[in-house]
Amino acid sequence: MKVLVAVKRAIDYNVRIQIKSDGSGVVHEGVKHSMNPFDEIAVEEAMRWKEQGKVEEVVAVTIGPDACQEQLRSALAFGCDRAIHVKTDDEIQPLTAANVLKALAEKESPDVLILGKQAIDDDCNQTGQMTAALLEWPQATFAGKVELEDGKAKVTREIDAGLETLEVDLPAIITTDLRLNEPRYLKLPDIMKAKKKPIEDSSLDELGVTPAPGLEAVKTAPPPQREPGVMVESVEELVSKLKDKGLI
Ligand code: AMP
Repeated sequence: MKVLVAVKRAIDYNVRIQIKSDGSGVVHEGVKHSMNPFDEIAVEEAMRWKEQGKVEEVVAVTIGPDACQEQLRSALAFGCDRAIHVKTDDEIQPLTAANVLKALAEKESPDVLILGKQAIDDDCNQTGQMTAALLEWPQATFAGKVELEDGKAKVTREIDAGLETLEVDLPAIITTDLRLNEPRYLKLPDIMKAKKKPIEDSSLDELGVTPAPGLEAVKTAPPPQREPGVMVESVEELVSKLKDKGLI
């Protein structure tokens, strides 16, 4: 079996996001970027399938500027066999990413295309679902557990009501939730080995995809400052303060 895994470069989750002074977006310059955390979980899961002998080849894919090579090298250090870099400086919204992933899935014919459930920069949670719709493949989103067996994937999903188990025929789209696994720490020898693994360059043109930005960010603003908390001495005081604020 073959697995395609989507890897997005995003501002590291530990970074305190700064908004540009003109409100036109967030500051990227001089800021640490990493692999989107849900995509690390996707790469880790694909590696575990490979280690269990269920998968022969894992291919990492990213769409974005030159700097995304760093995240592809991380995916290769996890153990991915090769990588594809769809180079573009255009802003990539979920529908464009989905069209690129569809074109790559048609070219590479993977049994599973695994993605993060959402990218922590745009929080869209759309690309996996859109790709499944474009390819007309079954999808199992928010996976907390995946078992691959006999041309099928049994996926336990995390939903509002608890857990739901689905069985989908392969090829299928799977998107990862936080509890699917805990990604491994990368070791120096694996990071060194990854430098020699192949990264194939591609482009939107080559894949026949025209970026179609359907959304325009009008303004970006930081969340409102929280008011400082108040310590109260007694339940009576708490009740009276809540009444003053009209909360009870
Ligand atoms: P989103 O729908 O933007 O929240 O993204 C969901 C998932 O789609 C991410 O976790 C990635 O796995 C994948 N994805 C989205 N954009 C890209 C991109 N530019 N390059 C690679 N993968 C992407």
